[in-house]
Amino acid sequence: MDADVVVVGAGPVGLLLAAELALAGVRPTVLERLAAPTEQPKARGIGVLAAEALRRRGLGADLDREHEHGLRALARDHGTTRTHFAWIHKIDQDAADPGRHGALIGQPALERLLRDHLRGLGVRVRHGHTVTGLRQGPDEATLTVETSTGEQRLTAGYVVGCDGGHSAVRRLAGFGFPGTPPLMTVRYAHAEVRGRDLLPPPGRLPGGTLFHDDGMIATFDFADTAPDRSAPLTAEEVRDSVRRVAGADVSLTAFRDGLRFTDQARQADAYRRGRVLLAGDAAHVHSPNGGQGLNLGLMDAMNLGWKLAAAVRGGASGALLDSYDAERHPVGAAVLHNTRAQSALLAPGPHVDALRDIVSDLMDLPEVNRHLGRLLSGVGHHYPLPYPAAHPAAGAHCPPLTIDDTVSLDRLAVTGRPLLLHPRAKRIDTGDRVEAVPIGKLSDDRLAAVLLRPDGVIAWAAAPGDDLEPAALRQALDTWFARSR
Ligand SMILES: Cc1cc2nc3c(=O)[nH]c(=O)nc-3n(C[C@H](O)[C@H](O)[C@H](O)COP(=O)(O)OP(=O)(O)OC[C@H]3O[C@@H](n4cnc5c(N)ncnc54)[C@H](O)[C@@H]3O)c2cc1C
Repeated sequence: MDADVVVVGAGPVGLLLAAELALAGVRPTVLERLAAPTEQPKARGIGVLAAEALRRRGLGADLDREHEHGLRALARDHGTTRTHFAWIHKIDQDAADPGRHGALIGQPALERLLRDHLRGLGVRVRHGHTVTGLRQGPDEATLTVETSTGEQRLTAGYVVGCDGGHSAVRRLAGFGFPGTPPLMTVRYAHAEVRGRDLLPPPGRLPGGTLFHDDGMIATFDFADTAPDRSAPLTAEEVRDSVRRVAGADVSLTAFRDGLRFTDQARQADAYRRGRVLLAGDAAHVHSPNGGQGLNLGLMDAMNLGWKLAAAVRGGASGALLDSYDAERHPVGAAVLHNTRAQSALLAPGPHVDALRDIVSDLMDLPEVNRHLGRLLSGVGHHYPLPYPAAHPAAGAHCPPLTIDDTVSLDRLAVTGRPLLLHPRAKRIDTGDRVEAVPIGKLSDDRLAAVLLRPDGVIAWAAAPGDDLEPAALRQALDTWFARSR
């Protein structure tokens, strides 16, 4: 066999997954269609959970530096640093999840950071390698790969499609991709607009929504839901859309670049089929409203990396790898659900205008504001655990922690190993893979002891005064890390 795992696609999700596999002792082969990395601006930030995950891998200083630039750019472009629901910029993320922060980092900068991280772990991306065929056998999967020097065959124990919304892996492996078709097409162009004085002020219009500023113009076009996705965006296409949305005839000069995307919302019917798995946009596509796609995909990678590594090393139960689908599919479905609600709130017309006014007023209520903030961040989500877990934090992603006022969780978690932070850690048989760390106290006073999975999920926790060695702790260790004992 040529590789234990082939990761197809070196976007942010493929890069992080490959790094997580490498940290867990499995060296993946990473194939990327592009000859060189792209600088295409897409996401301008990552949410709380992904930012915390990357901080636990030692990337916090880089995120913080980029975040400062990102904050300034956001304030300049939107007049506020609050995040939005359906482009109503009122959500106070700091109030929604006090002490927990995302990071405003542009996608090209994030990908550079992840590439360096992966290189530091000794894995190089094979650029100019396009997967065109995939066949699954009982013991391995065989990939056909086009390169500049001809076609290659590669065999692998597992293949993970991180190859984006148009995923070839998803199609070749026969996954279904059901969902809802677009309600709108968004076009965004960097260009000079001749005749800008003919345009109405930016905002909602009978045909959709229009944004324009010096050197940029964008439309949310509800009259066109079937653009030719294979054709590159042109100045003429944007001009036609401006005419539909705003009823104004302008022309675009000095057209530098642009983006076209829709709000179709689709999700793979499963995230695993035998030896083939999907993560990131390959598993789910939706509108970028609320800035959730990257967060969702990066957390797929965090969830899958250590489980797949355990499957490769052998002996991990099939249930461990299947828990990837069981845990992540509902999270993806919830994101699709809220992006559909946002699309509905962006539709033109007086009825939606009225609804938006009401939603906007509701967002002034702190409870509503907090609810929407947590909906977008995903911080409130708990994975159901297959054993009794009494502590309310069990199944959730662990917040940032400091141990005995001195050591941060970020420093301990950099190895990617599971951690048992426990006053009697040395007495507990955790096997060889779980790092048992004796502690006095944790900075979160709801926690007296905690078992953390490599993806930062609290597998078991005890509150002050609880039994510190209940049967559930043993069950949690056996469920997630049985192989190491
Ligand atoms: C305009 C826009 C704004 C966005 N804003 C946000 C935001 O603010 N916040 C947010 O969280 N998300 C946002 N998103 C979504 C975010 O960009 C995506 O969710 C993210 O890029 C998904 O990462 P990925 O690694 O799954 O896929 P991709 O980034 O699409 O990477 C897939 C990779 O696979 C490669 N590939 C494809 N086919 C093959 C093949 N056959 N063989 C080998 N390689 C292949 C591709 O070349 C690519 O490098 C936005 C998206 C857009 C378009």
